[in-house]
Amino acid sequence: MARILIVEDEHRIASFVAKGLRADGHLTTTVGDGREGLDHALSGDHDLVVLDIGLPSMDGLAVLDQLRAQGSRVPVIVLTARDSVGDTVSALEGGADDYVPKPFRFAELLARVRLRLRQGQAVPVDRRDVLESGGVRLDLRTRRARVGEREVDLSAREFALAEVFMVNAGQVLSREQLLDHVWGLDFDPGSNVVDVYVGYLRRKLGAGSIATARGMGYRFNR
Ligand code: CA
Repeated sequence: MARILIVEDEHRIASFVAKGLRADGHLTTTVGDGREGLDHALSGDHDLVVLDIGLPSMDGLAVLDQLRAQGSRVPVIVLTARDSVGDTVSALEGGADDYVPKPFRFAELLARVRLRLRQGQAVPVDRRDVLESGGVRLDLRTRRARVGEREVDLSAREFALAEVFMVNAGQVLSREQLLDHVWGLDFDPGSNVVDVYVGYLRRKLGAGSIATARGMGYRFNR
């Protein structure tokens, strides 16, 4: 559920990365130009940046340099050609958090992205203080939940799960996504903990609040 900036001028790669990250539940912004990428990265609106090296107007290393010089600590994963890994290692000293040599399998990039997001504790990242959907209201500051006028008591885990659902209200979330965001990836993927907690939430928020998408996962009803 992170907001990820992709700075990559090769359209095919940019759209492949964006598609994959969206399928993993993230919001993506794609730009194909170094200077524009730097502006976006400095806006503070992103939780992670995937940065190509060879870019028009300003190369990725210069973008990274400027970004760090201006005090941004946003995690950056550099995409680099396999034969210039040497240059990239010096880029890491320049403030990148990680790199992925091209060509790469999406799973390889995704693993790095997830790792960086966990380390940065950037999940969940919705900046709103109150989430409201389907008659349920979550106050993210006071950690209180209401259904209509009625206050309901949620455990920390239930609240985290409700938050992920409500940020993505109307979208189907897979068990794996829910496990990843609420329990962390180290949890056994074969576990039924997600189903158990969905049951708890249905009991507290209303049986119709969360629909089962057979074979796919769950969806919070708006
Ligand atoms: Ca490029």
